[in-house]
Amino acid sequence: MDIFCKIINRELSAEVVIEDKDFIVIKDIHPAAPVHVLIIPKKHLDIIHEISHEELDILGKMFVVAGQAAKKLGVEKTGYRLILNQGPNAGQLVPHLHLHLLAGKPLGSKIAS
Ligand code: AMP
Repeated sequence: MDIFCKIINRELSAEVVIEDKDFIVIKDIHPAAPVHVLIIPKKHLDIIHEISHEELDILGKMFVVAGQAAKKLGVEKTGYRLILNQGPNAGQLVPHLHLHLLAGKPLGSKIAS
């Protein structure tokens, strides 16, 4: 079982920002910006290019929840970056679909280095 499933099942603790029946938003344990949270669907999906049409509602809601998190964290006006890592070259560490929300400082114009 991956780390995020354990957090969802309360086998591991995390700092929860938002939770509803489909999603949990937690603070990243190794923040890469002053604000860094992870928007995680409770349904275990791991590979973005294998998402089916039946699962599109989850992807759509992931962005709605990201917007809710941005507002709750007070960064909706200053701006934020949403990142989805898929696979080794993207540096994906946890094989459970999630979005990173980064904010709280100018993030620069480069999205890859
Ligand atoms: P990714 O590289 O997209 O798979 O990102 C996974 C993220 O999960 C990394 O930024 C980690 O710092 C974060 N992470 C790993 N374990 C935990 C944890 N127990 N609680 C919160 N964030 C975590």
